[in-house]
Amino acid sequence: MATASIGDEDESLRAKIRENFTNCSICLKDFEDPTVLPCLHTYCKRCLASYIHDNTPGSIFLCPLCKKETKLPKDGVEGFLHNYFIDSLQDTVLTPTRKKKCGACAVDEEDVEAVSKCLNCSEYLCSPCAKSHIRFKISVNHKVYTLEQLHSGEHQQELQEFQRVFCPEHKEEPIRYFCLKCQIPICRDCKVLTHDEHKCTSLDTAIETVKPKLASMLEKLVDKISGQENDLTTLQGVLRDFGTNTSSVMKDISDHSRHLQQQIQQQEIKLLQEVQQVSEAHKKNITLYMESSEVTTSTMKSTSDLVSSILSRGTTTEILILQQQVGDRLQELLLPSGGGDIPQHLSLQLQTNNDVDREVNKGTGLGKIQQKRQIIQGINSRGPLNVTRKTQFKK
Ligand SMILES: [Zn+2]
Ligand SMILES: [Zn+2]
Ligand SMILES: [Zn+2]
Ligand SMILES: [Zn+2]
Ligand SMILES: [Zn+2]
Ligand SMILES: [Zn+2]
Repeated sequence: MATASIGDEDESLRAKIRENFTNCSICLKDFEDPTVLPCLHTYCKRCLASYIHDNTPGSIFLCPLCKKETKLPKDGVEGFLHNYFIDSLQDTVLTPTRKKKCGACAVDEEDVEAVSKCLNCSEYLCSPCAKSHIRFKISVNHKVYTLEQLHSGEHQQELQEFQRVFCPEHKEEPIRYFCLKCQIPICRDCKVLTHDEHKCTSLDTAIETVKPKLASMLEKLVDKISGQENDLTTLQGVLRDFGTNTSSVMKDISDHSRHLQQQIQQQEIKLLQEVQQVSEAHKKNITLYMESSEVTTSTMKSTSDLVSSILSRGTTTEILILQQQVGDRLQELLLPSGGGDIPQHLSLQLQTNNDVDREVNKGTGLGKIQQKRQIIQGINSRGPLNVTRKTQFKK
């Protein structure tokens, strides 16, 4: 089969494989009977069986890793595919900590640790069984290698050639053909029983079209990933710019507020000064008037005293001699007082600016924040995968 040999790959690929395929994420140990879900996450069959609460075929459970909704096949956990890829990785790249048991000894219900594997029989063997295996006539030409030999990668090619993948339907039958109509690998039984009329091809022929098809889809996915990464970079920039914008608008608010406060304070000083000036002038005006009025009053009083004593004490002659002069003076003083403005009544009041008051009372005296939204250029509408993240299982 035209499968890339992992033995030839560099150490970074080996590391990547170890990182992704070493452990079952349910039991955190090496995979035992690795079973793969449609999301491509693999678990031990036993772990998966105990993880799924509802064993009704068709019931939905969530993949423990990616939470993808997964339908239980009609055969239950048995209906999921066995991950042969991990099997072969365990023989080569990975170093399983779970020991393999000798398959030959297991027939006698003996639990013996295997040290070798027969590629032809796809069977793990203990050291004595491995020795006797190649002595039997029937298996004398079988390729039996120690697990260390397999792990070194030097027998990668043979390992892949002999790898037997069994039909998920007919567990004893190896996969032999590829049904072109159903696009699945099938066994001899499948071919006869259910794919009788279907056009089938050899596995080697099928891989020639399947592999390039998947490779080109993979290429598209890689493109899509780089697009997503560009989007992330763009969005990081957007986030950074928005942070700058936020701080700048906050600074604007404070600056504008301070500016208005300064203006108001200056206007306060100006108004206070104005009141003071008007008040001083008005007080001065009244005081001056009062001073002149006091002078007039005292002149009138002294004249009045004088005239009154003349009238009460003076002789007839004396009065008649002064009569003309006294009369003139009294006449003079009785004239309406002229000259000098009579002070007005003055009252001051603060007339507020209604426009400003209204805005300030409304809470918009400083202005308001305007939101402008625009499409981010260069972001594609690739949303996140439609994965339901539910913590509860469906009942
Ligand atoms: Zn497990
Ligand atoms: Zn998954
Ligand atoms: Zn044995
Ligand atoms: Zn064998
Ligand atoms: Zn078919
Ligand atoms: Zn089959």
